[in-house]
Amino acid sequence: MEILILAVVIALVAVGAISGLVVSSRKKKQLPPTAPPSTPTITAPPAEPQVGEDAVETAEEPRRTIEEVGLPEAEAEAPVEEPAAEPEAPAAPEIEVPEPTAGRLVRLRARLARSQNSLGKGLLTLLSREHLDEDTWEEIEETLLIADVGVAPTQELVDRLRERVKVLGTRTPADLRALLKEELLTLVGTDFDRAVKTESGVDTPAVVMVVGVNGTGKTTTTGKLARVLVADGRSVVLGAADTFRAAAADQLQTWGERVGARTVRGPEGGDPASIAYDAVKEGIAEGADVVLIDTAGRLHTKTGLMDELGKVKRVVEKHGPLDEVLLVLDATTGQNGLTQARVFAEVVDITGIVLTKLDGTAKGGIVVAVQRELGVPVKLVGLGEGPDDLAPFEPEAFVDALIGD
Ligand code: GDP
Repeated sequence: MEILILAVVIALVAVGAISGLVVSSRKKKQLPPTAPPSTPTITAPPAEPQVGEDAVETAEEPRRTIEEVGLPEAEAEAPVEEPAAEPEAPAAPEIEVPEPTAGRLVRLRARLARSQNSLGKGLLTLLSREHLDEDTWEEIEETLLIADVGVAPTQELVDRLRERVKVLGTRTPADLRALLKEELLTLVGTDFDRAVKTESGVDTPAVVMVVGVNGTGKTTTTGKLARVLVADGRSVVLGAADTFRAAAADQLQTWGERVGARTVRGPEGGDPASIAYDAVKEGIAEGADVVLIDTAGRLHTKTGLMDELGKVKRVVEKHGPLDEVLLVLDATTGQNGLTQARVFAEVVDITGIVLTKLDGTAKGGIVVAVQRELGVPVKLVGLGEGPDDLAPFEPEAFVDALIGD
């Protein structure tokens, strides 16, 4: 009996041992071939092999894929990072050399002529009629009014033409062209000083404030003007005081960078006057020739505008005199532009006008009308969206473009 019990015990022990071995060997099989890394990182090439890693990677056991280590799909698809290389410094923007400004209007004349010569050609055709009767004079008047020359200047011109045509007697096309050119030139005015004032007369930079309603091309014009000045050998600092329109400061800075001019800017919605002040300060520190200040043109209320521009003007004048206030007007807006001109003239002392978008309108007569309205000259005209499409205004080239030569 004892022997029997002993045999049973031995048998049980033996079974237990065998099954234990099986379980433990199964467990061993379930173990992953290597210990998984604690956090999955995707770096390549791997860092120095860690102790024991060589045992993990064998030809038979290919490196586990990212899916196997359970990375989210997006990460899994992420390209393998290159080892941290020295970050490359952003390339310094290339500084452009703007084309010279002398004779720019002559070069850009074709743009003006494309849209404008309906005025000049129209007038010449009418004046060439055999019988200049009342109806014809009325048509001449209408042509001038449609081109936005304005009522009073139109009347003056028609009166002068009537008188001179009478005196002329026979009218050859060449005579008529010469006569019309002369009279249009008188109307546009050849006596104005149209140079943008960039000599301050003191040792601080000349300060030019650019005003106008947003959308007229004010910021673009400020940027283009920086190029005009740089092209003429002047050094420029820009003040991005149009803090009202988002992106105006970025836009201006880009213009500045292209010609190596620094832009002083502040936060969006910040105080325009303090930016203007800082810009002049920077201009003085740099020994710049000119500081150009782009302002916000909110026509919310006249008092609001007056407060804003008045404050900018006052703080700038703490450094020295304000040399030029340029009003930017969109030539395509006709009467609306004249209304804007009136409001701005009541708020600040405008010293010059910039007419933009003259390339897109047949209403070049606005040059005459706005000068009459404000009593200040058109100094620059915008003839396109290109960087060098802002030209100093030259009456002769303008009139030639109107009537062709
Ligand atoms: P701001 O709000 O007055 O500062 O206006 P922007 O300077 O941003 O100009 C408004 C738009 O007018 C831009 O698309 C300019 O490229 C365009 N612009 C400005 N001047 C001229 C110009 O002389 N001719 C043409 N065709 N477009 C112009």
